[in-house]
Amino acid sequence: MTDPAATATVPALLVINAGSSSIKFKLYRVEGEDIALVLGGALDGIGRLPRLRVKDAAGGTLVDQSFGADEIATATAAQHIIGDWLLPRVRDYRMIGVGHRVVHGGPVYSGPVLVDDTVLATLNGFIPLAPLHQLSNLDPIRVLRERRPDLPQVACFDTAFHRGHPELSERFALPRALYDEGVRRYGFHGLSYEYVASALRRLEPEIGRGRVVVAHLGSGASACALRDGRSIESTMGFTALDGLPMGTRSGALDPGVVLHLIEQKGLSAAEVGRMLYNESGLLGLSGISNDMRELIASPAPEAALAVEFFCLKVAQAIAALATTLGGLDALVFTAGIGEHSPEVRARIAGRLAWLGARLDPAANAAGAARIEAVGSTMPLLVIPTDEERMIGRHTLRVLASLRG
Ligand code: ADP
Repeated sequence: MTDPAATATVPALLVINAGSSSIKFKLYRVEGEDIALVLGGALDGIGRLPRLRVKDAAGGTLVDQSFGADEIATATAAQHIIGDWLLPRVRDYRMIGVGHRVVHGGPVYSGPVLVDDTVLATLNGFIPLAPLHQLSNLDPIRVLRERRPDLPQVACFDTAFHRGHPELSERFALPRALYDEGVRRYGFHGLSYEYVASALRRLEPEIGRGRVVVAHLGSGASACALRDGRSIESTMGFTALDGLPMGTRSGALDPGVVLHLIEQKGLSAAEVGRMLYNESGLLGLSGISNDMRELIASPAPEAALAVEFFCLKVAQAIAALATTLGGLDALVFTAGIGEHSPEVRARIAGRLAWLGARLDPAANAAGAARIEAVGSTMPLLVIPTDEERMIGRHTLRVLASLRG
């Protein structure tokens, strides 16, 4: 461990990304106006196969420990375990604040915000907009406020980056009153898109100024149209259920199916919700797995169908977003599948060959940053996302603005 006397004056901040079955965290040292990773970890499998894994900035394992399901049955128990592990490590630093990923900022927040009682009450009001995620996101904020009321906390929203959407992209073809009440297409994965847009601006400034579609393909999946680094439209809508099929979420669906499930099959709202959020997507299509790696490796025809369905819908969405942009200057892949699956990237690009997209098979297989072939009408890129770093940067900026 670093000598406490040497580092106790070094400012640092913590980033927490809390979901319902996992909590990710990263500790960053503050270096002027930027941040440098100290360690990052996750406690996942809460209530099933809890496992705490933490690595240092160089990727060296600091801890890899499994727990019994009843030892860490709830997110609150997970927070205690993480807190106990972190405490002696953060004691070496001067903690200046904590940044949190919060899925929903509603129609109100178009940027990160310092949490106080009023903000927390407003964010609680958005729980019905994202029941699965918002509660899990707010829980560690509440716990930390009780334990360390002196520590500033900043909420960073998945919706904020999309808040400048034109009304055309925000409306459903529903009566206006619903839009006024907040039933709109918010869009999610905003922290990921914001990070990718900033990376693109740094790596390829010319491309970053153009019309770009970013495909965030993880266990949650969406695509976003960017013009000059700004979000114009997203495939995700009122909830994180819309748009592309995902690991276990259905993606876009004829709303008549929901009526059918309720009226004809007698399912309750909760049962429909469980089906659409937890039993659909790649898992529902294949009946085998929600994990793209397993599906690609599987010889079963149902697995092949699920992979092909996913790739078709992603390609269709990219084409639709290109229409919104009035053309496409570049396509970027990111998140678990987008960063690591040459197979999926090749199939999506193959379906966009009519637009002139051409992959270089060797660069694609090698996971290079630029994977287009000579003669492709557009650059094809792979940019690893880093939502936690985006949250860390936002947090630093909000805290700096407090000091004037
Ligand atoms: P989360 O939304 O949980 O952060 P990730 O961005 O980590 O999700 O993406 C998880 C998905 O990425 C899983 O479906 C997983 O199978 C997929 N994935 C990760 N590595 C590969 C790979 N090498 N090939 C195909 N899919 C992969």
